[in-house]
Amino acid sequence: MELLERQKAFFLAEHTRDFSFRKKALRRLKKEIIAREDAIADAIYADFKKPRFETFIAETQFVLAEINVQLNNLDFWAKPEKVAGNWANFPSKNYIYREPLGQVLVIAPWNYPFQLTMAPMIGALAAGNTVVVKPSELTPNTSSIVAEIIENVFDPGHVTAVQGGIEVSQELLSKPWNHIFFTGSTQVGRIVYQSAAKHLTPVTLELGGKNPCVVDKNVDVNLAAKRIVWGKALNAGQTCIAPDYLLVHQSIKDKFVAALIRNIQKSYGENQSASKDLARIVSQKHYKRLRSFLEGQQILYGGNSVDEDFFIGLTLLDEPSLESPIMQEEIFGPILPILSYSNEADIAQIIGRYEKPLAAYVFSGKRAFQKWCMTQFGFGGGVINDSVLQIANKNLPFGGVGHSGIGAYHGKASFDLFSHKKGIVKRGNWIDPPLRYAPYNLPDRIAKWVKHLF
Ligand code: NAD
Repeated sequence: MELLERQKAFFLAEHTRDFSFRKKALRRLKKEIIAREDAIADAIYADFKKPRFETFIAETQFVLAEINVQLNNLDFWAKPEKVAGNWANFPSKNYIYREPLGQVLVIAPWNYPFQLTMAPMIGALAAGNTVVVKPSELTPNTSSIVAEIIENVFDPGHVTAVQGGIEVSQELLSKPWNHIFFTGSTQVGRIVYQSAAKHLTPVTLELGGKNPCVVDKNVDVNLAAKRIVWGKALNAGQTCIAPDYLLVHQSIKDKFVAALIRNIQKSYGENQSASKDLARIVSQKHYKRLRSFLEGQQILYGGNSVDEDFFIGLTLLDEPSLESPIMQEEIFGPILPILSYSNEADIAQIIGRYEKPLAAYVFSGKRAFQKWCMTQFGFGGGVINDSVLQIANKNLPFGGVGHSGIGAYHGKASFDLFSHKKGIVKRGNWIDPPLRYAPYNLPDRIAKWVKHLF
């Protein structure tokens, strides 16, 4: 039977309506991931040498935490939610029912190849949907293990993994899904949105952008530099919420650059290519793109690369022109442009050049400035005095805005995203005020009063 038809039949058989069925499936998945944690780390290492510790915190443990949150809260979130009534439907009880959407398609990128396939899938399953996942073709070892796990744990009518590249993705996109959850580039996000529109399929688009990181003059220089270096080095900068470029107050720029260099050397040694704690670039194409960004730039530190290994060390660039290619697109690699500013107008002028990014960071000791940076611009989410950690809290919805995406997930946000919220009114019969019924000939004084009921 065709994939989508099989999932539709499974859904219509109402297995997934049962909360205990959903929980049993998530528990089986949890067990399988725990049993294969080392094999998952091996697979991701084989794909682009992601350090095992990074796989542990940002892939496997992250996914297990998402399963736990859904397991612990699913009964409560799925229960009809009672909301207040109003005079217009008095007497009544009012509820929001959360219903599964149906057949969900998840398309994932390569940079967190396990997390970004599993985390949306888990939310969709907790909410009672069936799921087809399409992992990335650029991380074949991880995609294979994802497919094996899914095959071992789930009935194919419930969840299926389909491996393959762009053609497979496009074939899947041509089908009438009830929801499409896509993580990837803004450019492909557009294609997904257009395909979904043909069937009026709602989409979640988790995309990217140029994430600014502002550093005020009154910061703890070493701590701020350490936290920025970590956020940029994680996954070799191939993180959708990595700081893309720095905006440093001109009065501390030299001191700050020195602190960045000190922290890079401390964490990754003088010879970064010998470090076991830096991932590689995923493919030759991506490697070449990043290398080309360095042409004609003033390199403050790094710039070293190893062709055979697709390795690029953490690299600091001095004041690249805003017209240069590196300042025109999302970097998505271990290169950090450093720009200086002298006042808020400079910051606004630079950030304002770009579409709304997925993340923004500010390091400052001044509350008013922190608030200004966090509220002045549109972006998906951010951190004051650190980077990347907004993703670590399941109570925070994670997603972009404008060109960085549509919709948000994780924890309760995931459950809601993959549920239809059905508004239901249960009317009482013990009284039936006559006001709304024709003939509409209420005296003026009562008609005026009725207006206030709505
Ligand atoms: P991508 O858009 O190239 O690919 C993502 C997925 O889309 C892959 O599974 C791929 O097979 C499929 N695909 C590629 N081209 C397609 C086409 N023409 N038609 C249909 N499907 C197609 O993205 P990527 O290179 O894998 O990932 C990097 C991008 O993802 C970056 O822009 C990054 O910011 C973004 N990203 C966003 C998040 C987030 O949570 N918002 C997380 C990770 C990555």
